[in-house]
Formats: sequence, C-alpha cells, structure tokens
Amino acid sequence: MRLIFLGPPGIGKGTQAKLLSENCSLAHLSTGDMFRSVIEQETEVGLLAKSYMDQGKLVPDRVVMEMVQERLKAPDTACGFIFDGFPRTEPQARGFDELLSSLELSIDKVIALMGDDRILVERLSSRRSCSECGRITNLIFSPPKIEMKCDHCGGDLVQRDDDKEEVILKRLEVYRNQTKPLVEYYDEKGLLIQLSGIGTVDEVAERIEEHLDKKTTGESC
Ligand code: AMP
Repeated sequence: MRLIFLGPPGIGKGTQAKLLSENCSLAHLSTGDMFRSVIEQETEVGLLAKSYMDQGKLVPDRVVMEMVQERLKAPDTACGFIFDGFPRTEPQARGFDELLSSLELSIDKVIALMGDDRILVERLSSRRSCSECGRITNLIFSPPKIEMKCDHCGGDLVQRDDDKEEVILKRLEVYRNQTKPLVEYYDEKGLLIQLSGIGTVDEVAERIEEHLDKKTTGESC
C-alpha cells in the first residue's frame, strides 16, 4: 500500500501517519523529519533547509525532490510507504507522479485531514516533541506524566523552532496558497479520502481505518 497524508500543519498528519505505518508495516516517510535530521547533521542541505523552515517557508522543490528520490531507493520502502508532508506543491506532485511511473509504482490513496485554523494554532503552539525519540506530545491534549519529559523514553520535550506563533501563521498561509490546491489535484485523480482531523488521536485513527480500502490494506506486501 502506498499512501499520502495531506493537510495543514498541526492537523495530526505525523501522528496518524506514524500510527498507521506501524499498524500496517509501512515505511513512514516524513520530509519534515528528513530535513530535521540533515539540520542536526549540519549538512549543506540541512543549512539550506533550515533557512526556509525557520521562516515557515517551503524548502525549494528541487531540493525536496532529490531527497525523496534518494529515500525511495532504500529497501524499507519496497513493501509500501506513507508520505507525510510530501508533496506540498503542484510541481512536487507532478514530479512525484513522474518519479513513481519511472519506478512502475502508483499511489493507492491520498488521505486529506481537515480542520480550522483556530484549532491548528492552538495545537501547534502547545505541541512538543521528544529530543530523544522524536515522539510528539501535546501539553494541553495529552500532557506528559512528568513535566517536560517524554512519557515513552523520559527524554526532554522541546518546542520546534517553527512551532512559535509567528512562524505558525506563515506556515498556515503557505499551506492555503501552495498545498491546499493538491486536494483538488488528487480528487480529480479519484484518489482522495477527505476526513476531519478533529477529535482524539484514536477517533481520527478509527476514521482513517474505516475509510481505507481493507482489500488494499491486506495487499500491502
Ligand atoms: P513538517 O514537519 O511536515 O511540518 O515540515 C516542517 C517544515 O519542513 C515545513 O514548514 C517546510 O519548511 C519543510 N518541508 C517539509 N516537507 C516539505 C516539502 N514537501 N516541501 C517543502 N518544504 C517542506
């Protein structure tokens, strides 16, 4: 099974994509995580990506496409994958279509999670991630048992630089202008499942599983 998760920042794409990838043994491919990893390694691409991410802007398409192309060569993608946060522009979507067809692959479904800006800002500004294992937690909706420590591994919880309020507003604007048109792009291809991303993690996960074609799920590998 090959899926794309689409939706505004803060809607819970990362959380849901991770859950589903674990349940269905699919590779979880988050371009945001890939960039955060090269930033930590202080590579040239990392430095370039950081200059865009810190302002809430998108990293240039060419850089994203090269990274995705490289990532798809890894063997863990052979049994299927979930892209989370990619594609984010029409040129990326078209480039991805070409890349997949050159690999004789196709996308099964695109899950678009929707929600209103007020909730997204609230979720993003209270979001923290573990500096050790990367798990995401929310100080309001799923507060950690020990203050600012990850429930899973005890690592320190930190706020992403781009989860600061002024950057959040820019990211939402970028989403509206550049990424939202992809909802129509994939709808026209008959691939779109549009769902509300509002509710608890379990409620949204259940909604997604209900809408995914069980037959496709069974054929994942
Ligand atoms: P995310 O973790 O998906 O919210 O992504 C964090 C940031 O990484 C975004 O605000 C962008 O600056 C950058 N980024 C992630 N994925 C992409 C993409 N597909 N295209 C361009 N920039 C991206």
